Amino acid sequence: MFDGLKDKLNDFRKDVEEETEAKEAASESDAEPEAAAPEGTETDETATPAAAADAPAGAAADEAEETGDATGEGDEDDGPSTFRRAKAFATGRIIIEEEDLEEPLWELEMALLESDVEMSVAEEILDTVRETMLGESRKQVETTGELVEAALHDALLDVIAVGQFDFEERLAEADKPVTIVFTGVNGVGKTTSIAKLSEWLEERGYSSVMANGDTYRAGANEQIREHAENLDRKLIAHDQGGDPAAVIYDGVEYAKANDIDVVLGDTAGRLHTSDDLMAQLEKIDRVVDPDMTLFVDESVAGQDAVTRAKEFNDAAAVDGAILTKADADSSGGAAISIAYVTGKPILFLGTGQGYDDLERFDPEALVEDLLGE
Ligand code: GDP
Repeated sequence: MFDGLKDKLNDFRKDVEEETEAKEAASESDAEPEAAAPEGTETDETATPAAAADAPAGAAADEAEETGDATGEGDEDDGPSTFRRAKAFATGRIIIEEEDLEEPLWELEMALLESDVEMSVAEEILDTVRETMLGESRKQVETTGELVEAALHDALLDVIAVGQFDFEERLAEADKPVTIVFTGVNGVGKTTSIAKLSEWLEERGYSSVMANGDTYRAGANEQIREHAENLDRKLIAHDQGGDPAAVIYDGVEYAKANDIDVVLGDTAGRLHTSDDLMAQLEKIDRVVDPDMTLFVDESVAGQDAVTRAKEFNDAAAVDGAILTKADADSSGGAAISIAYVTGKPILFLGTGQGYDDLERFDPEALVEDLLGE
């Protein structure tokens, strides 16, 4: 999941490390002649005059070795050690400046855009990384890699975690039956997600009924009925062309009569115009007053999914999103962008075709995974 993005974030870390190592090498070779002099004269390991006489030569040899190492031309070994980098930071000799970040940040921006991260989201990430790194570098930090990781962690979390709330808690606290309506275009995995969520609820002790408010599309009833039968759930459906609000209303009535906890209401995925969408969802709002509206789209659609999320949310406010097919997506752009662009959180990730392949979206876990080795 999101492996392409993971690689690109890792490249950024390496880019910054290389930039600062080069700078550090340059500054070390500048600083060394001065630093070597007092050590040579006041050396504590050279008590005898003979040993003292050897000291400058020894120091010079060390220095030559270090300078060779530090300038790093063609050097294939580990380069300047973590210790020396840490020491450099701790003494404040190396401060990450705007110019050190310019090139890596540009590369990062390109990488994010290539990964289908929405432009405003990429910019927000860059701003946070820039601010964190320039500010933090004046403190005592461990290594450049860790500094980059901390900056990326905060920057990603800031955009990914927008609007998060505790779905289970909200569910537990709401009066039953809880009505959840699903919006989104066809083919993205909306029906499958309804079935998966029904299973997810069942595992947590909540019963559910499905109501097919997609009365527009031929075959929609059969599609959702197959899932309902597989999972042994009740399905409320009307004939094609019927009123979506009436179907979901019947679902709510069924739930009340049978002590069912949650009503999962599908809606038509493809509409002639957004006016139709508005009118339909407005009527559902009026008639059944759903507790939650969830927008469903597929992770693999990248920017298109982000645009649709915004359009749907503008047309009829959603409470959160389900992002399907994350298992098949290497870029991760939609997962990173949707919450920031819409202000509404991603609540679940679809991670496969099985009914169990639905995970609660956890921004912190995702960020850690993206930044993991
Ligand atoms: P709908 O038209 O939006 O209701 O789409 P469906 O629920 O029928 O799903 C379309 C296809 O996507 C089906 O083949 C599903 O098995 C598949 N699908 C749904 N969710 C996921 C997912 O999270 N991962 C993968 N790999 N496939 C999925």
